[in-house]
Amino acid sequence: MDKNIKNLFNNTELAFTNKSNFELTKAYFLFSVLDYPLLTKIGNAFLLLVLKLRLPFKVIIKNTIFNHFCGGETLEDCKETFLSLKKYNISAMPEYSIEAESSVEGFENYKKDSINIINFLGKEGLPFIAIKCTGLLDIDSLEKISSGEYTYDSKEYISFKKRLIDLCDSAVRNNVQVLIDAEETWIQDAIDNVAIELMQIYNRKSSVIFLTHQCYRTGTLSKIKKNLEVSKEKKYFYGIKLVRGAYMEKERNRALQKSYTSPIQISKLSTDKEYNESLKYSIENIDRASLWIGSHNEESSLYLINLMNDNNLRPQDKRIWLSQLYGMSDNISYALSSLGYNIVKLIPFGPIDKTIPYLIRRANENSSVKGQSNRQFTLIKKEINRRKNLN
Ligand SMILES: Cc1cc2nc3c(=O)[nH]c(=O)nc-3n(C[C@H](O)[C@H](O)[C@H](O)COP(=O)(O)OP(=O)(O)OC[C@H]3O[C@@H](n4cnc5c(N)ncnc54)[C@H](O)[C@@H]3O)c2cc1C
Repeated sequence: MDKNIKNLFNNTELAFTNKSNFELTKAYFLFSVLDYPLLTKIGNAFLLLVLKLRLPFKVIIKNTIFNHFCGGETLEDCKETFLSLKKYNISAMPEYSIEAESSVEGFENYKKDSINIINFLGKEGLPFIAIKCTGLLDIDSLEKISSGEYTYDSKEYISFKKRLIDLCDSAVRNNVQVLIDAEETWIQDAIDNVAIELMQIYNRKSSVIFLTHQCYRTGTLSKIKKNLEVSKEKKYFYGIKLVRGAYMEKERNRALQKSYTSPIQISKLSTDKEYNESLKYSIENIDRASLWIGSHNEESSLYLINLMNDNNLRPQDKRIWLSQLYGMSDNISYALSSLGYNIVKLIPFGPIDKTIPYLIRRANENSSVKGQSNRQFTLIKKEINRRKNLN
């Protein structure tokens, strides 16, 4: 089985079945630029300039990096992308990728925008929305709640929770599940706490609310075990979103600056070990949980498939999902969806100028995930050559 799936991961005809020759050529040029640090720097400077001076370069951005990594400027624009994925049994999770405004009005707008997305998802039969708590409360208050300076009775926490409840009520009405993203460690306790409170309300029959666990943090598996035990006692289901973690450099730098022990694993190997063990534990307890993994790692995806097989779980089991970003790791998405596994692509959308910070992050991808862009580039080149040889 491993060999078959590995072959499928290398099958570029399948991975790019949805891409025309023209789109593939554009992706080739985009990843050529991302492959050269100097060109990436120039590209970033260009994007920043467009953002700052509001230069009229929308068309160039739209036809290059934006179209590769984003679904469109509005949800309606994204519909074509959703349909093209649906043909291959791949689901879509649109994410409004604009930087949140840090004011009460900004938080209420984020809530309203999220509810609009949820209503759209309900109509289209799309099952997930991801929520960033920093869109619903400022980082400073989240940090104070996490450190205990503000209590869970404080007006800040109560209004934050209220916004989430409004959002979750609308999710339940629309049959949409809510993934609560993990963010920086110094605000994470507030996020964990609210997620568990919400699970107690909404996860009585199945997992509607998911909390994200970052395996680059030490102690992640212990936290999952403890939370799952509590959920068993209190009779609710535990929704587990599992990732490696996106803020490694920032976390390490802060720990160094403020002279505390870094909360991050000492090596990639130890993060991988925590990830695999957490996967195994989650699958072995799937009767009381759901598992949603966000990863571009082929080994992890294969490991999960083997665990499902060993535990007699069907690929179509609705408690288990694998997710990749739109424009990345299509080889995993298309290979596993062709075998019946539940795949969902995270699809950023938003007005071009407002998504520029997201696009810069994608272009600037930190050193820890550079390998994924290289892998994508290699596969694109392989597919272009395969198509050339057909003629
Ligand atoms: C659909 C989706 C949703 C996501 N949601 C979130 C989220 O809510 N919160 C969040 O934080 N991230 C999120 N991420 C990002 C994720 O955490 C990873 O940063 C990213 O996916 C790369 O990890 P990987 O498993 O794909 O690949 P890999 O290439 O196998 O792993 C790279 C990751 O390993 C870890 N790592 C690398 N080097 C070291 C080292 N020296 N020591 C210790 N650890 C190391 C880092 O976490 C790095 O990002 C999401 C990703 C996806 C695809």
